[in-house]
Amino acid sequence: MKRVLVWFRRDLRLKDNPALAAAVETGADIFPVYIHGVEQSSQLSEGEASKWWLHHALEDLDTELKIFGGGLHLDQGKSVEDILLGIVGEFDIDAVFWNRRYQPHAIKLDGAIKKQLQPRGVEVYSFHGGVLNEPHAIKNKSGKPYQVFTPYWKFCRDIPVGDPCKVNLSGSTFIKSCGLMLEKLQLLPKINWCANFHETWTPSRQAGLDRLANFASGAVTEYEDNRDMLVLDGTSMLSPYLHFGQLGVREVYHRLVAMGEAVNNGYLRQLYWRDFAHHLIYHFPHSVTRPLRSEYEQFPWAHDEDKIERWRRGQTGFPVIDAAMRQLWETGWMHNRARMVVGSFLVKHLLQNWVGGADWFWNTLVDADLPNNIMGWQWVSGCGADAAPYFRVFNPLRQAERFDSNGDYVRRYVPELAGIPDGRINEPWSLTPIELECYGIKLGVTYPERMIDINEGRDGALAAYQKFKASVV
Ligand SMILES: Cc1cc2nc3c(=O)[nH]c(=O)nc-3n(C[C@H](O)[C@H](O)[C@H](O)COP(=O)(O)OP(=O)(O)OC[C@H]3O[C@@H](n4cnc5c(N)ncnc54)[C@H](O)[C@@H]3O)c2cc1C
Repeated sequence: MKRVLVWFRRDLRLKDNPALAAAVETGADIFPVYIHGVEQSSQLSEGEASKWWLHHALEDLDTELKIFGGGLHLDQGKSVEDILLGIVGEFDIDAVFWNRRYQPHAIKLDGAIKKQLQPRGVEVYSFHGGVLNEPHAIKNKSGKPYQVFTPYWKFCRDIPVGDPCKVNLSGSTFIKSCGLMLEKLQLLPKINWCANFHETWTPSRQAGLDRLANFASGAVTEYEDNRDMLVLDGTSMLSPYLHFGQLGVREVYHRLVAMGEAVNNGYLRQLYWRDFAHHLIYHFPHSVTRPLRSEYEQFPWAHDEDKIERWRRGQTGFPVIDAAMRQLWETGWMHNRARMVVGSFLVKHLLQNWVGGADWFWNTLVDADLPNNIMGWQWVSGCGADAAPYFRVFNPLRQAERFDSNGDYVRRYVPELAGIPDGRINEPWSLTPIELECYGIKLGVTYPERMIDINEGRDGALAAYQKFKASVV
C-alpha cells in the first residue's frame, strides 16, 4: 500500500481517530480528504447553523494537518460517491480508510462506495470511532435491539470502553493537494445571522479540549444538581464538538470516568443516551422520517403556519418558551431542559407536528445531530422509543418556576421583560395596567400577548391524544 486516502466525515480530529491511526501504521502516504455533498437529502447534509460550525472545524483540521506537513483536500458536489471515486482514480489511491457512521443514508452510501472501490482493486477499511458501543454489537436477551433506555444503559455501562487510540503523525508523509478553497464550499450563511455565535463558541478542537478540561475540573461534580437549571453553565456544552467528532466520545468518557459513581451515573449516562440514539436510528431506519411507533403516523396534527412561526421566532407570549427559542437563534444551542419544554409546547399545547420542530432545530442548532434530534423530538411527542407518555405535558410556567426560579434566563434572552420582578416575570399577562406601565411593557406591542391559555392548550392536547389512542387500539 503506497497511497492511502483517509476520508474524514464526522471525525474531524487527528487524535483518537482509529481510521487515521490505522492509515499511519501502514507507512503509506496519507491523503486526508473531506467531501461536502451539495443538494443531498437533508439526512446527509447539514443545517444552516451546522454549516457555520463545519466551516470553522474544517479550517481548524487543515491547520492541524499543516503542522505535520499535510493539509486537508476539499471537494464538493452533488454525488459524494462520484467525487470520491474520481479522487481515488486521479491520485492513484490504493486504499480508503474511514470511521463508520450509523445513519441509514450514510450506511447506504458507504456500502455503495465500497462496492465500487473493491472491484477496482482499491482496499477499503472501516473503523469504530464515533460511539462507545456500535449499534450492531448491542442486543437484548432475546437478540433484539433495545427500545428502552434504562436496560440499554445497564447492559452497556458494564462493557469496557476502549482507550482513545494513539495517532503518531510525526513521521508521516502526506499527499499534498488542497483541492477546493474552503470558501468555495459556501458553508457560511449569506446573511450573517450567525454573527453572534462566536460569543458563545470557538469551533476548534482545542476549544473543545479546553471546555472539557474546565468542565472536568468544575461543573461535572455538581452536574446532577445543576444540569436542569436553565441559566447556569451546569452542562458541558460539548455537543457540537461531539457531533462533528472534534472530540472523540472515548476521550470524553475516559477524561471523566475516574471521577466516581456520581459522575458515572450522571454525566456519563448522557453519553449513553447519545449512543442509544445511534442504536435506535440504526435498528429502526424508518424513524429518520416517520414515527418509530408507526401507529403515530396517523396522528391528526393541526397544521398552523402562523403558530409555528410565532414559536420559531420566540413570540409566543410565554417568557420561558420565548427565551429558549431566542437562545437557540442567538447562540445556535439550547439547554436540554428547554428543548423538552419548547418541544412539548409545540407538539402538545399547539398540536403541531414534531417534524416541523425537528426541521427548525436542524437548521438552527450548531449541534444538529440526526440521531439525537430525531430521538429527542419523538420522545417529546410520545411517538418514539422510551418516549414521554402522551399525558406528560410540560407546563411552561411550572418548568420556569422550578428551573429558572428568579427569571434570569428570561431576563437574558427576553430583555424587554427584564424589569419585571422575579415572581411575576413568567406571567406578564397577570400584571395590572399600572404594573405594565411601570415596567415599560405594552402587551401586544413591546411583548406579545400569550398565544393560548395554557390550561386550554393542555386539555386540548390530552383530548386529542386520548381520542387518537382510542381510535388506534
Ligand atoms: C427535542 C430535542 C432535540 C434534541 N436535538 C439534539 C441534537 O440535534 N443534537 C444533540 O447533540 N442533542 C440533541 N438533543 C439532546 C440534548 O438536548 C443535547 O445533547 C444537550 O442539550 C447538549 O448539551 P450539552 O453538551 O451541554 O449536554 P450534557 O448534558 O453536557 O451531555 C453530554 C453529552 O451527552 C449527549 N447527550 C446529553 N443529553 C442527551 C440526550 N437527551 N440525547 C442524546 N444525547 C444526549 C450529548 O452528546 C452531550 O453533549 C435534543 C433533545 C431534545 C429534547
